[in-house]
Amino acid sequence: MNEKISRFLAESEPETPCLVIDLDVIRDNFLALREALPLARIFYAVKANPATPILALLRDLGACFDAASIFEIRDCMALGIGADRLSFGSTIKKRRHIAEAYEQGVRLFAFDSAAELDKLALAAPGARVFCRIFMEGAGADWPLSKKFGCDVEMARDLLIDAAGRGLVPYGVSFHVGSQQRDLGQWDVACARTALIFTALRARGIELKMVNIGGGFPARYRQEIPGATDYGHAIMAAVTRHFGNNLPEIIAEPGRGIAGDAGVIQTEVVLISKKSYGDQRRWVYLDIGKFGGLAETMDEAIKYRLRTPHDGGPEGPVVLAGPTCDEVDVLYDKANYHLPLALAVGDKVEILSAGAYTTTYCSVGFNGYPPLKEHYI
Ligand SMILES: *Cc1c(COP(=O)(O)O)cnc(C)c1O
Repeated sequence: MNEKISRFLAESEPETPCLVIDLDVIRDNFLALREALPLARIFYAVKANPATPILALLRDLGACFDAASIFEIRDCMALGIGADRLSFGSTIKKRRHIAEAYEQGVRLFAFDSAAELDKLALAAPGARVFCRIFMEGAGADWPLSKKFGCDVEMARDLLIDAAGRGLVPYGVSFHVGSQQRDLGQWDVACARTALIFTALRARGIELKMVNIGGGFPARYRQEIPGATDYGHAIMAAVTRHFGNNLPEIIAEPGRGIAGDAGVIQTEVVLISKKSYGDQRRWVYLDIGKFGGLAETMDEAIKYRLRTPHDGGPEGPVVLAGPTCDEVDVLYDKANYHLPLALAVGDKVEILSAGAYTTTYCSVGFNGYPPLKEHYI
């Protein structure tokens, strides 16, 4: 755990559970990605953590922003972020929300279907639109497959159609899946994207932009490559498939910027066994799936944990949240071990928890208040 966060926790003894974000790490992560991808414009995926201190910091560093809803667009604009730095990246938008964004000056929109293109043609005439293509999410711990994107053939036709309907067919986007640990996935995606560029060129339409999405990882239990490895793999993929005629590149990191910047401090509420012969202890924390740890669904994201007894003898545990709901179990199959000395009242830290936590918190499920947040 980083020293700045440790010191804050020791000195302020905040009420738990709480998330503490070190804004210096947000800055470092942003700068590292920008350095790893010097040819790309970085659009921070606001949904990963939309806290005002993060948005303001990234605004001042010159970032652009990928918004998942009109509400995120409003939040960004309220902070003085210009419409020219915003992309409305959701493929599922109400027509009146498209119209509002357009009135506010937003000119960059995603789509992946004919019906969404209809809405854009009506509500955002002349806007630049990009079509999201389907990716399987192989290699990703939190895949974004099935629900998003269309196949290459359909994307080609929709982009051609966009040109005939007063929109600017601007490019192609994809998302290789969140927490993507396979660097080869960008190559697969760029190959598909290049096919569409070629097909459109044959129709006299020059696409300009490749949106390489997110997928940049945070450090959970498994080791991950560094930002520069991602940069090299992505630039190699783009170069392989586009040659010297490089398109404009956009990246949309969310987790890769916010994840490692945050620590959630929790408290052990109960340690128990279900029978005398039970080999595993049940450890109940004051945070669970409904307190912000929704990405433990299917045990997909495996957070690293710190306890005051690390280094001592350990035993296997089932880790669970505090609510009266059967599904509020964090890890049962993922083979977590915690120190035998762990006791009720101990503080346990959940590392790299800065992304996709605060906003996943329920609105008072079982009466628990939302996850507290500290930005230092
Ligand atoms: C969620 C999302 C992102 C961010 O993904 P990460 O894996 O967190 O980087 C980027 N682009 C789009 C369109 C998204 O929906």
